[in-house]
Amino acid sequence: MIILGIETSCDETSVSVVKDGKEILSNIISSQIEIHKEYGGVVPEIASRHHIKNIAAIMEESLSEAKVTLDDIDYIAVTYAPGLIGALLVGLSFAKGISYAHDIPIIPVHHIKGHIYSNFVENDVKLPLIALVVSGGHTNIVHIDENHKFTNLGGTLDDAVGESYDKVSRVMGLGYPGGPVIDKLAYLGDKDSIKMPEPKVGEYDFSFSGIKTSVINYVNKMKMKGETFREEDLAAAFQHKVVEILCKKTIGAAVEKKVNNIVIAGGVAANSLLRKELKEKAKKSGIEVYYPSMGLCTDNAAMIAVAGYYKVTYGDEKNKFGDLRLNGIATLPIDRD
Ligand code: ATP
Ligand code: MG
Ligand code: FE
Repeated sequence: MIILGIETSCDETSVSVVKDGKEILSNIISSQIEIHKEYGGVVPEIASRHHIKNIAAIMEESLSEAKVTLDDIDYIAVTYAPGLIGALLVGLSFAKGISYAHDIPIIPVHHIKGHIYSNFVENDVKLPLIALVVSGGHTNIVHIDENHKFTNLGGTLDDAVGESYDKVSRVMGLGYPGGPVIDKLAYLGDKDSIKMPEPKVGEYDFSFSGIKTSVINYVNKMKMKGETFREEDLAAAFQHKVVEILCKKTIGAAVEKKVNNIVIAGGVAANSLLRKELKEKAKKSGIEVYYPSMGLCTDNAAMIAVAGYYKVTYGDEKNKFGDLRLNGIATLPIDRD
């Protein structure tokens, strides 16, 4: 089964060809990071325009690298939710055009399920599992049963983890995206030199705004006093606190739900401390932790094609396919896909 994946939910235009949910024949990603950097974050209207400009050429490149034509494609898997609505509509409209012209069925894919299924490419992941979703817009703990049924156990009440990284980076003057820079800087600092607050929320819920505000206040206080501070210490204190919370809640969920497998999904799954700490800590409870290779952590169309493969193979017969009325949805909980 050969699936063409299309992803345009945010600032990456990506088209991929994947065979049998495992073999990535091509995964072309055109990132707009350099364009949005100037503004300190993604500007939705600019993102949509760049998707329109690039998508046809990216599909051509993807097909050619995979050495296939549209005649070889069995299904088109396209991200329809969640994301920036204008950006989503570019991918969706493009998918509908090819679907109509070449008579190929469309599988609508939930972007976050794509992030989760990116784990299934390189690993033999066993179900049931707990997925820790940590991306630019989401922070959730999700349970997935033997039949690929998703249940959201909890999520952030305010900022997403990636969003906090980006905001903290901005206030420290370290640029966008913040995750990779802070991740590196944190290794040079002393995590105990600056105290971070302890959020008080429900068992599977998160709150990062208190920690983020504490960083912002610290920076402003030092600026007002005209004092310099060690950026690496602040980065270390922030990163260690965030990772400590993520590990504790995710392992707690796995133990309580009697699940032996954890996957990390989303852009923040690229975080080196999270990868290391979660694996080491979970091992003590006999739990295996999987994460995708770096290239599959951030937005890409291969993960969308893989999620499409699992939807068409295990999904509910009634909502496997979308027709020409399929619409984009900006916000959609994972268990309502
Ligand atoms: P969503 O998937 O929720 O729609 P998104 O697609 O914008 O949001 P992703 O592309 O999945 O988000 O991830 C981007 C985020 O990942 C950014 O916030 C970025 O700072 C963060 N990130 C990337 N690398 C790292 C890292 N090494 N450590 C921490 N955060 C990281
Ligand atoms: Mg992105
Ligand atoms: Fe994403």
